[in-house]
Amino acid sequence: MQDFLNYFETIPSSHRTLILVGGLAFFWILESAVPLSRLSYKKWRHAIPNLFFTLTTIIVNFVLAFMLFKSAEWVMDNQFGILNWLPNMSLWAYILLGVLLMDFFGAYLPHIVEHKVKPLWMVHLVHHTDHYVDTTTANRHHPIESVIRFVFTLFGVFIIGAPMGIVMLYQSLSLVSTQFNHANIKLPKKVDKLLSYVLVSPDMHKIHHHYVLPYTDSNYGNIFSVWDRLLGTYMYLDREQLVYGVDVFPDEVENSRIGNLLKQPFQKYKKPTILPVKKNQK
Ligand SMILES: [Zn+2]
Repeated sequence: MQDFLNYFETIPSSHRTLILVGGLAFFWILESAVPLSRLSYKKWRHAIPNLFFTLTTIIVNFVLAFMLFKSAEWVMDNQFGILNWLPNMSLWAYILLGVLLMDFFGAYLPHIVEHKVKPLWMVHLVHHTDHYVDTTTANRHHPIESVIRFVFTLFGVFIIGAPMGIVMLYQSLSLVSTQFNHANIKLPKKVDKLLSYVLVSPDMHKIHHHYVLPYTDSNYGNIFSVWDRLLGTYMYLDREQLVYGVDVFPDEVENSRIGNLLKQPFQKYKKPTILPVKKNQK
């Protein structure tokens, strides 16, 4: 277990790239084998803006990464943060708790804030205006969003007192998890449902990409589903009823142009439509 953590402490950039590209390729192939919906789109053409934004996300995180290293070093030297204040625990419990908390501060928290604060929603909108959600949608984030998420992750490292091994393990799991839950794949419904009690399953996350409220404002989690279930933001909608995108930004051509997407956060805010929820959709 210690070796495992040590590996992530010093994980080479080449291995991180391999996880990103390998994950993308793996889920891409799986999407062809067991697609959730037969999306009528040109897969490569659709991927272009998404891969562009994946690249900008990588660049932002690469440029700022030194701050994560410095912070993780500082919290360990000063024994600061939750993990350092708690009594000693077994290594696996330490790792699990660390990743669980990083998932909250690095993903759930910035995500819900981006949905609730209007200017930040306009930034996050770029992620939601994809009309064909697949594994390439995972990192379709405006560069400003990449910075916002980074700041929350950095804040998380301080609060949690996370060593670099846990930060890197978390980031690797977070990456694969987001590629998995955006992938246009169809697990057996029961398996997906069962999985959603622990992890954010593909069906669970797709509901977050439904085109109207209140579904868009639900299922914010990335790795673990516990935060949505604990904080009352979990929702269910049958996969057959899903429509991707945001109803007040319906222009598919505009939503696939890199230039337009870069400017999207500065467009005029439009209030999304709220649909009444039927009782059985819980
Ligand atoms: Zn969202």
